[in-house]
Formats: sequence, structure tokens, C-alpha cells
Amino acid sequence: MALDETTLAKIARRGVAEIIPEDEFIRALQSGRKLRLKQGFDPTRPDLHLGHVVGLRKLRQLQELGHHVVVIVGDWTAQIGDPSGQSATRQMLSAEDVRANAETYMRQFFKVVDRQRTQVVWQSEWFGKFTLTDVIKLTSKFTVAQLLQRDDFAKRFKENRPIAVTELLYPLLQAYDSVMVEADVEFGGTDQRFNCLLGRELQAGVGQKPQQVFMVPILPGTDGVQKMSKSLGNYIALEEPPEEMFGKVMSLPDNLIATYFELLTDVPDDELVRVKADVEGQRVNPMSIKKRLGWEIVAQFHSRDAADKAQAHFERVFQKREAPEEVPTYRPPADLTQLRLSRALVDAGLAASASEARRLIAQGAVDIDGERVAADGPADRLKPGAVIRVGKHKFVRVVGP
Ligand code: ATP
Ligand code: MG
Repeated sequence: MALDETTLAKIARRGVAEIIPEDEFIRALQSGRKLRLKQGFDPTRPDLHLGHVVGLRKLRQLQELGHHVVVIVGDWTAQIGDPSGQSATRQMLSAEDVRANAETYMRQFFKVVDRQRTQVVWQSEWFGKFTLTDVIKLTSKFTVAQLLQRDDFAKRFKENRPIAVTELLYPLLQAYDSVMVEADVEFGGTDQRFNCLLGRELQAGVGQKPQQVFMVPILPGTDGVQKMSKSLGNYIALEEPPEEMFGKVMSLPDNLIATYFELLTDVPDDELVRVKADVEGQRVNPMSIKKRLGWEIVAQFHSRDAADKAQAHFERVFQKREAPEEVPTYRPPADLTQLRLSRALVDAGLAASASEARRLIAQGAVDIDGERVAADGPADRLKPGAVIRVGKHKFVRVVGP
């Protein structure tokens, strides 16, 4: 089945960091053969997060073309801890912790990938039966020099910082997974480059066709700088309630908006260009673009209805400063220039008298749409939809004449 240019661009260009070797991958796609696509996840915490979704969305797109996904639950590698990008040895986890975390992973994968075309396999299927002979056979296939080519190992070695022998085993185990599932392509973030390439070598070494390596860009976390990661705690989890998910998106730094749209939504490429220009040129309030992003993300992991509700909740609580759903209304006279604010507070039932109203204003206890009122004066800000608040708990919403 020859792929049209649009589909090919969607798969092999948008949200892609590097494909090794790219021409081989494109040929495999064009061949019409069903490919076995592998990605591994270490259950070191109970949550999957939006960073994981970048690769999972690619898998989903390929499933839609009929390819087969193999998700590896790294119950053995999780115990060692991935040394990728780490400057120190990770704490090892117990088999029970790993198993408990993995249980919650299952239902989360299928928020993105298609269950019908996915095979979930646990490493313990093969490593559970591994003997010392197998370990020796596997380790004999690699050299220390080869492993020290990794940036993180090389750096630690040069600086005389410890590298546990178990850490050297990590990429070997991951490579062995590729042999066991006969992966055609391995997916991962760019942090997985070394691990995935070792898979290619091991497969070739045992006479299998070496896998291609498909790397997606690393999604930055909510701090805007570091990789979104379980261990750094800067993540948005897939099982976060809609309101929290929406709220976290709203508090992302503006410079991440375009990247999040690109890697996590289906917003078409030409719109993406517009979003970038809007954010950079500050032509549109980033708040409104972010709301759309928040909506798209909540709709994807919960529902459109939940997304509507989360957005309404955000607008009510944060933009209008905690005005609850049921607020009394106040209908001011049509000509606001003739109305003093202190008078309006009395008419709205927020103060007993004009002098009390003036005192409340002077105390800084009155705000309109979340902005403190500094002095009494014309009530020209009381447009329909505005919320007047007195103290912590008294609100009215202004309605039209
Ligand atoms: P940890 O910080 O403990 O390493 P993690 O968040 O990196 O956890 P892993 O289970 O190590 O999660 O990663 C599983 C897969 O998801 C890997 O292929 C990894 O490259 C990818 N991945 C993880 N975080 C991101 C991210 N922020 N952006 C893109 N891909 C990611
Ligand atoms: Mg990791």
C-alpha cells in the first residue's frame, strides 16, 4: 500500500526528532508489510503523563494504518532504574512496587493506543526464567568501551563518580526485549537513543533484522525547562481530574503552547503556524489560545463534555476569582455614568448604607472581576457579566438592563 504524501508527512515529520535510518523506515512503511512497533515503559511510578503520550500518539497513528504495537512493561528494567541522562545511580525498586505501578499503567495506555491492535508483554516473561548462563551469554556480546560511549556513563566515569554494574545491564536488557518481541521499529524519546541503538546491534548479532529507531522530541514539563518526567514531578498525569488538567495547562509558560499543540493535538499544520505566530507576535491574548489547548487535552483524555465543564470552572474560579455558580444578580440602571459605586453596592444588597459601602471600599474589601476597587466613583465598570465581590463570601453578578 503506497502511502500518500499527507499521511507520510503526518507520520514521519510532525512530532518527530529523528528516525534511524529514515529511508529504511519509509521503505518498510511503503512495503505494505505489517510492522511490529515496540515501546517500553518502566513502571517506576503509578502514572503515565503527557510526555509518554508523544510516542503513544505516533503508535496510534501507525495502528490506524494497520500496524501492530507491542508495549513492554519494564518490570525488570524498572527495578534497576534507567541510567539515561542520570548523573547518579537510581534507587532500586522492589518487585512488588513495580507490579503495583504496572497495574495502573494498563488502563492508561489504552486512552491513546488501540487495545485491539496492542499486545502488552511483561519482561518477566523472559527475564523471570533467565539463568546466570543467559546473563553471561548476553553480556559477552558487548564491550565496556561500547557502553562507555554513552554520554551519561562517560561523564560519570571521567568525573570518578560511581556507575553500578547493574546500570550497565540496563541497555542490554532493553536490547534483549527487542530480540524477544522481534521488533521492526522501536519508539522512544530522544533520551532513549543509546538504548534503542543497542537493540539494533543485538538483533543483528543474533541474526535478526535490526530494528529502526523512531525518536520523538522530549516534551518539556510544567516548569517549562526540564523534561516532563515522573521522577521530576513536573508532569500532567493522564488520570488527573479534568479541572486540574485544565488548570495545569493554563499555568504553562507561554513559550510551550505551540510545542504542546504540535505534539499532543491533531490541530492541523497550517493552524499550528498560526498559533505560533499568534503567540510570538502577541496578536492574541495567550490566555485564549491556552484555553483552547486545555480544552483539546481534557477532551482527549476525558470527554468533550468534561472539557467544557473544566473550562467553565476555570473561568468562574480563576478569572472571576472564586464566584460560585449560584450568584445573586444585580441589574443596574442603563446609564452607569450617573451611578456611584457606593450606591450600587447598597442597591445590590452588598452594603447596608452608602457610608458602609464607602468604608468597605476604603478597607480594600471590594473588587470587580478580581480587581480591587481603590476608591468610590462612577460605576462604569458594572457591565453585564461583571462580578462584584465584597469580603470573602458576598458576590453579585451584574446582568444587562
Ligand atoms: P523517569 O523520569 O523515571 O525516567 P519517564 O517519565 O522518563 O520516567 P519512562 O518510563 O522512563 O518515563 O519513559 C518511557 C518512554 O516514554 C521512553 O521511551 C521515554 O523516552 C518516553 N518519555 C518519557 N518522558 C517523555 C517526555 N517528556 N517526552 C517524550 N517522551 C518521553
Ligand atoms: Mg525515563
